[in-house]
Amino acid sequence: MLECDFLIIGSGGGGLFSALHLAPYGKTIILSKKDPNETATSYAQGGIAAVLSKDDSYKSHIEDTLKLGCGICREDVVRVIVESGPEIIRDLENLGVIFDRDEDGYHLSIEGGHSNRRVAHIRDQTGRVFQDVLYHNAVNTDAKIITNALAVDLIVDEEEGQRTCYGAVVLTPDGTIEDIRAKITILATGGAGKVYLVTSNPDISTGDGLAMAYRAGAKIINMEFVQFHPTCLYLPGARPAHERTFLITEAARGEGAILTTIDGDRFMPAYDHLAELAPRDVVSKAIYDVLSKTGDDYVLLDMRPIRGVSLKRRFPYIYENCLKWGYDITMEPIPVIPAAHYICGGVETNLNGRTSIERLYAVGEVAYTGMHGANRLASNSLLETFVMAKRASQDAIKLSKKVKNSNKTRVHIPTSKIPTQEKIVISHEWNSIRRVMTSYASMMRSDHRLNLADKYLALIGDILKVDYKKYAPSLDLVETFNLHHVACLIVKSALMRKESRGLHYNVDYPQQDDENFRKETVITSYEEE
Ligand SMILES: Cc1cc2nc3c(=O)[nH]c(=O)nc-3n(C[C@H](O)[C@H](O)[C@H](O)COP(=O)(O)OP(=O)(O)OC[C@H]3O[C@@H](n4cnc5c(N)ncnc54)[C@H](O)[C@@H]3O)c2cc1C
Repeated sequence: MLECDFLIIGSGGGGLFSALHLAPYGKTIILSKKDPNETATSYAQGGIAAVLSKDDSYKSHIEDTLKLGCGICREDVVRVIVESGPEIIRDLENLGVIFDRDEDGYHLSIEGGHSNRRVAHIRDQTGRVFQDVLYHNAVNTDAKIITNALAVDLIVDEEEGQRTCYGAVVLTPDGTIEDIRAKITILATGGAGKVYLVTSNPDISTGDGLAMAYRAGAKIINMEFVQFHPTCLYLPGARPAHERTFLITEAARGEGAILTTIDGDRFMPAYDHLAELAPRDVVSKAIYDVLSKTGDDYVLLDMRPIRGVSLKRRFPYIYENCLKWGYDITMEPIPVIPAAHYICGGVETNLNGRTSIERLYAVGEVAYTGMHGANRLASNSLLETFVMAKRASQDAIKLSKKVKNSNKTRVHIPTSKIPTQEKIVISHEWNSIRRVMTSYASMMRSDHRLNLADKYLALIGDILKVDYKKYAPSLDLVETFNLHHVACLIVKSALMRKESRGLHYNVDYPQQDDENFRKETVITSYEEE
């Protein structure tokens, strides 16, 4: 058993930024279930939204965020996060990040849904630079980073109706199960894009933190709102599988790229007056509609209309990657499709990152702060991640001085030491969950499809529960189990919302119904059988 003051589960932007604040104040352990730099943070291309130009204002950024959130953002949260933007940019610069600049100051991009240029970036590799800088700083603190260590479940006890978290049960790199006891536990496990077949997310995005918090009884909010990014490179035959979807940043459309059918017909102006600059959900749904009508597998993104910047210099990462797959963006359009990109819902936190479970915090994509409501404004997530990691850490430092480590436990971890005999079962259920979600619970939903998803997921759940109890925990088994819980949360939440709002579109209720549904969807109860 290990003991620490601060246990951080995750080594992406949320986890590392928290660690940099916490490490000077107590023993800090950071867990990463794979390579510490294989994170969604590393893949962010577009940048981070912040009010940095004299032509922009907090008011405008707040209004854009609230508008896209379709009436269910938490306005106080939006205000605090937006107004913290410039401070966070300075913090990142102090750590060593150098943003792109031009003669007027920061070079700021514009992305769908923003009414001003406000996305600070480092070419098209913003996330890669953030991850490298944060990691470099973190390894120079006293924080201990344990790689290939999978948090399996949270250690939670309940007294007089209040649950408290005392750390996590971890599958260690040598395959043993160990408790890590902590005064404070911070979930920074990222998103869950792998719940769909086509996703921009890396393989680590299996919603582990969401599932662990759900099993521990935390409040989970708004899981029906899943954002699909309209333009991921279409690479059906790519190997390895994780290279199958490569995101083409929205900034490409911001700079002037256009979308056409395979026959070269530009279609976005017919769907929205903002054409290619319409918000992501509008563009994704338009592509879905075009593909339904044409029967094609993809549409084309043409970056050649971009004027005034060198494509190679402004988008070097995209240029190189497309070239690797045989497409020269300076000479030809590229095939693209929408892919699951971001989960707006998550583990509820207050403005200090505290969840409904004592001593458990959540930051980054795993958390639901109320910033995004029913739809996320592009490049607001890195902003939210860093602002909340800082705020949560400041609060956690104070709380850690008032609490002690404890041996209490209420967690039910399978104790079996038998290695999985039937890997085929896990891989089949993994694929089944993703196929069910893609067919029945993605961009276009109906009650019929969602009910079918619910039934299939119940069946898959029965099969997985048996394996989870029978065999020793392994990465594949735990991730599949977690993915199943996330899928159930999305479907349950989608069935509860009998209207269409933001990213949730149900053909049976095509209108927004403010009278009955201008509210968050809340799920708390996890019943173990
Ligand atoms: C392709 C792509 C492009 C994007 N572009 C932008 C953009 O331009 N601007 C923007 O604002 N947002 C963007 N986003 C979203 C943004 O990058 C993410 O929301 C954000 O980086 C999430 O950070 P995080 O720290 O929460 O999670 P991540 O960076 O994903 O880190 C998660 C960490 O948790 C660890 N982990 C997970 N489960 C466990 C477990 N059970 N045990 C131990 N460790 C675990 C992982 O190993 C990893 O270290 C993009 C996302 C993607 C995928």
